[in-house]
Amino acid sequence: MVMFCPKCGGLMVPRKKNGKTILVCTKCGYTLDPSASKSNNKISGYKLTTKIEHTEKEKIIVIDESKIPKVLPITRDVTCPKCGHHEAYYWLVQTRRADEPPTRFFKCTKCGYVWREYA
Ligand SMILES: [Zn+2]
Ligand SMILES: [Zn+2]
Repeated sequence: MVMFCPKCGGLMVPRKKNGKTILVCTKCGYTLDPSASKSNNKISGYKLTTKIEHTEKEKIIVIDESKIPKVLPITRDVTCPKCGHHEAYYWLVQTRRADEPPTRFFKCTKCGYVWREYA
C-alpha cells in the first residue's frame, strides 16, 4: 500500500513507534496513524472544488473555486442554510443551456458555505 502525505503530497513510509506501525512523510515529517485514519476522513479540505448536489434531477454541479471572481458583490437578502448568517457573496453561473437563465450561487461571508439558489 502506498500512501501520500495529505499535507505536502510526499511519499509516506511505515515506521515503528511504541510497538505499532505509523506512516511518516519522507518530505515534511508528517505522521499518520493508519489505524486511526479509518475513522476520520478529514483530508477533504485540500480539494479545490465544491460539490453541490442538485437533488431535482440528481445532477451534481461542480464549482471550480478558481473560476469564482475575486471580487464578489454581497447580498444581505439571504440566510445561510448552514449557520443562519444573513450576508453572502453571490455570483451567476450558466449551468445548463445558454437559453436558460443562469443560476445564482451564494457563499456565506461567515462560514464560507456555498449553496445555489433554487428558482
Ligand atoms: Zn509531508
Ligand atoms: Zn454560514
